[in-house]
Amino acid sequence: MFPVRRLMAVGLMALTSVSASAAWQAVSSEPGKRIEIDRASVRKDDSGKTVALGRIVLEKPIVDAKTSSPYRIVQALNRYDCTVRTFSTLKRSYFKEEGELLREEDIRTPIEMPVRTGMLDDKLLRNVCRPKPGQDATLAASHTADKVNDAAGELRKANEALIQKELKHASMQTPAPEKTPPEPKAKTNAPVEQHPAAKEAPPPVTTHAVKKSRPPVRSFARHMPEVEEAHAPVAAHGHAHWGYEGENGPEQWGRMKPEYATCLNGKRQSPIDIRDGFRVDLEPIQFTYRPSQFRIIDNGHTIQVAVSGNRISLLGNSYELVQFHFHRPSEERVNGRTFDMVAHLVHKAEDGRLAVVAVLLEKGNEHPLIQTLWNNLPLEKNDYVTPPDLVIDPTQLLPQERGYYTYMGSLTTPPCTEGVLWLVMKQPQQISPEQLSIFSRLYRDNVRPIQPQFSRMIKESR
Ligand SMILES: [Zn+2]
Repeated sequence: MFPVRRLMAVGLMALTSVSASAAWQAVSSEPGKRIEIDRASVRKDDSGKTVALGRIVLEKPIVDAKTSSPYRIVQALNRYDCTVRTFSTLKRSYFKEEGELLREEDIRTPIEMPVRTGMLDDKLLRNVCRPKPGQDATLAASHTADKVNDAAGELRKANEALIQKELKHASMQTPAPEKTPPEPKAKTNAPVEQHPAAKEAPPPVTTHAVKKSRPPVRSFARHMPEVEEAHAPVAAHGHAHWGYEGENGPEQWGRMKPEYATCLNGKRQSPIDIRDGFRVDLEPIQFTYRPSQFRIIDNGHTIQVAVSGNRISLLGNSYELVQFHFHRPSEERVNGRTFDMVAHLVHKAEDGRLAVVAVLLEKGNEHPLIQTLWNNLPLEKNDYVTPPDLVIDPTQLLPQERGYYTYMGSLTTPPCTEGVLWLVMKQPQQISPEQLSIFSRLYRDNVRPIQPQFSRMIKESR
């Protein structure tokens, strides 16, 4: 038995025992999802902060980009500071269904987020921070919990058919990946093909992370990294590896593995030629970026940079910037025009949904942030560099004008997962010819062809 499987079994047992005594209480309910907290889990930690379990119960399951399996419940262990009104997430668990754990994610560097008045965080904080109820109140709470559980049962029943259908659909497209990746081989040639997931999914940046050597592959599997690797297939048992030309090229992706089928059958694929959008007043994207330590890797498909502690918010949703990477030329077109390069900034929400901000790059002046990155390019593929004394501010990647195009699409690499919110900045940024030619020597053409639009709606800021 592999340790991974044993670990999963232990995790499952632990969670089963939690849910046996859990008192899930709905804090908010809106179309498509319900937010609950477990009153029984609320406790003070050593530092006097309040720790509590909360969860998002989705009406319909969504496909996890990391495992290609669907999940419907995201449970988070949060720590609240009731005095200064901040919270941070310590751990996330994804469940296919009640009690059916899909995977867990420890957050190595929890980020303190301010709680916004009137928003969902506020409701959670008030609920968690209110004083312990007395005897009567406890009884009332447990009655409420019963009602909630009843309601959950109803909801579950109502969704069962749908979920079964979705699951069947998903399992046809994306069978669950092996839970036990093969034992790592001696890393002689260490080709990309053998352990793409492990290689391309390094752990998130930690402040003390100057990695002299790579940890063994299995430790990656155990600590599922925070970083959502838009460009990392998770299946660790692939033979042929996808690429951009020949028999592993984009036309073949959908046939290479069952879990890549969406690349072939999907109806909301990216990239697209952006044209004929509705010109309207779009809500500005709120960028909360700040100077951050970074880790850079050449993962065999692109140059990718992991950062932490940066967020965007839009339409009441908050997404964390997990990584950004580059394509040459730009994958997306605007009114038929291709740009010299594009940066994709991949963000992930609490419930796993992705939002990608695309910044088009055209030949012009030197770009200071890109220069810092190129200065620190790793010498070898799949090795990462974490400069100990350097920070980058992702704000520098953003154009001055913040108008954008938006549409629903997919990852532009296998497994081509859909449901990705695309936010393409209208104003391009500049990159020098020298900087462009450095990237060209590594990746001349790492671009997926334009995908059919299937009359999707496109909106643009006017
Ligand atoms: Zn990309």
